[in-house]
Amino acid sequence: MEKERYRHLNTYLKEKFGKRTLKICVDAGFTCPNRDGSKSYDGCIFCSKRGSGEHLKELDIPSQVKDFLNSYRGMRADSFIVYFQNFTNTYDTVENLRKKYDMALIDKRIVGIQIATRPDCINEEIAKLLKEYAKNYYVCVELGLQTSNDNTGKLINRCYNSSSFTNAVNILNKYNIDIVAHIMIGLPKESISDLKNTVSFINNHNIQGLKIHSTYILEDTKLEEMYRNNLYTPLTLDEYLESLTFVITHIRPDIVLHRISGDAPKDMLVAPLWNKRKKWF
Ligand code: SF4
Repeated sequence: MEKERYRHLNTYLKEKFGKRTLKICVDAGFTCPNRDGSKSYDGCIFCSKRGSGEHLKELDIPSQVKDFLNSYRGMRADSFIVYFQNFTNTYDTVENLRKKYDMALIDKRIVGIQIATRPDCINEEIAKLLKEYAKNYYVCVELGLQTSNDNTGKLINRCYNSSSFTNAVNILNKYNIDIVAHIMIGLPKESISDLKNTVSFINNHNIQGLKIHSTYILEDTKLEEMYRNNLYTPLTLDEYLESLTFVITHIRPDIVLHRISGDAPKDMLVAPLWNKRKKWF
């Protein structure tokens, strides 16, 4: 068998659960402090009305899970991780979070719960709640970082500093909860040296997984406005591959790579069009 060039998610899941494991994406109806006015009303400049999720679901949480399990994809695996994807999935009271997470855990084949959030929406109470789930499930938190450069952070209207990321990692480490960080290649005004700094920043944190996203432009975003006004030019495919290669070859080898490109919703993608070829990556 060909040797894998990096720690691949599918292999990791197979090792961990001993069987093919798929993710069930759930839209639990959360919002985001960067959307509801608590931090900003504008959101990150690349974020669409779907809140960085794949689908805007109209079904309740248990129906979303059942739909997936009964679908063709649901027949193709033996165990599942529920993935709370859209917006900020720890941005609520602990009681409401518990209710929403419980609503998804409706089938014996569900072995884990994966929660996407912002670093400034992690605190001790939430970590304690997640630790309770860790008694019976694999629990993993996805933390957006995008870049370690706080000037870029301001430009993309992230509304938290890299120190928030460090703080969230420290809290989650204390409770032994796995962390997957998100970084983006091709953010406005970022150079390869910014990317190098972000990679070494990540390597200095105790995280277990990484999602690498290509920056793409979606309809009705601030980034689209910048693009139309010639204030932002997306990377070419070759430029992206060069940067991606740097990340893959310099990230700590124990870190599992969950994603190596963006997965733009095709109906909303403005540019670059090479982003449509996720499978090819
Ligand atoms: S933190 Fe996430 S959900 Fe909130 S605006 Fe930014 S990308 Fe969108």
